[in-house]
Amino acid sequence: MLSNLDKAELLQQYEQIKAKGLSLDMSRGKPGSDVLDFSNGLLDLPGRDYKSANGFDCRNYGILDGIPEAKALFAPILGVNPDNMIIGGNSSLQMMYDAITREMLVGSWKGKGGNVKFICPVPGYDRHFAICESLGIEMLNVPLNENGPDMDKVEELVAKDESVKGMWCIPMYSNPTGTTYSDEVVRRLSKMNTAAGESFRIFWDNAYAIHHLTDTPDMLLNILDECHAAGNPDRVYMFASTSKITFPGAGLAVMAASDKNAAFVRKNMGFQTIGGDKLNQLRHVRFFGDYNGITKHMKQLGDVLKPKFDAVLEILERELTPHGLGKWHNPNGGYFISFDGNPGTAGRTVALCKDAGVVLTGAGATFPYGNDPEDRNIRIAPTFPPLDELRAAMEVFCVSVKLANCE
Ligand code: PLP
Repeated sequence: MLSNLDKAELLQQYEQIKAKGLSLDMSRGKPGSDVLDFSNGLLDLPGRDYKSANGFDCRNYGILDGIPEAKALFAPILGVNPDNMIIGGNSSLQMMYDAITREMLVGSWKGKGGNVKFICPVPGYDRHFAICESLGIEMLNVPLNENGPDMDKVEELVAKDESVKGMWCIPMYSNPTGTTYSDEVVRRLSKMNTAAGESFRIFWDNAYAIHHLTDTPDMLLNILDECHAAGNPDRVYMFASTSKITFPGAGLAVMAASDKNAAFVRKNMGFQTIGGDKLNQLRHVRFFGDYNGITKHMKQLGDVLKPKFDAVLEILERELTPHGLGKWHNPNGGYFISFDGNPGTAGRTVALCKDAGVVLTGAGATFPYGNDPEDRNIRIAPTFPPLDELRAAMEVFCVSVKLANCE
């Protein structure tokens, strides 16, 4: 713990920072314009050549689940056969919401009313939790360990309660911890016995599947294949999007599932829409060319993002390690650094930052119902601010962590 002398000094430092009148936003995992610029080529596409490879006029209605070349382009991101792909609109989160409500209204959870529970590895993604909360789905916390969710706990929960129908997973460079699930965790998820039987679904949100920050990326086992091999072919819905690849507001969302699940999704999607934005699909296909083009593009983005992650890690290390304050990971990819302070300090740290002009993701946001039982986790989102602003914000963060601990 820091001494009183430190506290007086810290207060002085804090007041000096406050007097600067900063206004910095690190609240959401958004790309900065430096990253968005790499995709500007999309803005001139597809031009007047608006026909897909099979001659379809992409300006018109039709092709519910995406043009074949878009399915082929994005299938390797999820490691699936293009026939199992469905291209959506501009948001994978919307596809997840639809997948859940579809199961509830017309699928295998029909008639379960308010009796659907989800396993939620924590810390996790606030918007996943918000979907559950808005639909009255009870959330059960399971710790997210270094190799993925605590599988002993998961297996126990799914085996004993048939109302546990779903589970959120961000299997690669998880939001916010950067964790990638180990092969063993993926296998256990695909094999585990569930009281809900065939109606149990894993929502495999692979939002950061190819978002590497190093030349030695993490590897992830293909859960659709594992589920198939384990005799649970319909257990998983996979999702991804180009939100953190091209433009978050004007990208493409995709999902993949077993033949049976994909057919179920397509059938019901057909009541919602006549088809997605095929010009945007065509635009992405022409911009990237092939999967190799996506890989090259991601390397460019990673080269811009890596120094931002390095800056955060360097400042945390320099300012907090000597005082033994906090724990964090050095992720190989993704969009976040997850900070765990001493219990009872996260809310205060975020409030101190806010008063000094630095907005962070709210404390508690990484837990269901906004309730971090130990009040210690804070999600740091380094991607949006320019490097100099990020450094300034991290200095504020570290002073705030120290002050919160003194108090
Ligand atoms: N899933 C995860 C894990 C995310 O972190 C995000 C955005 O931050 C999303 C989904 C949102 O994706 P989309 O823009 O495709 O709706």
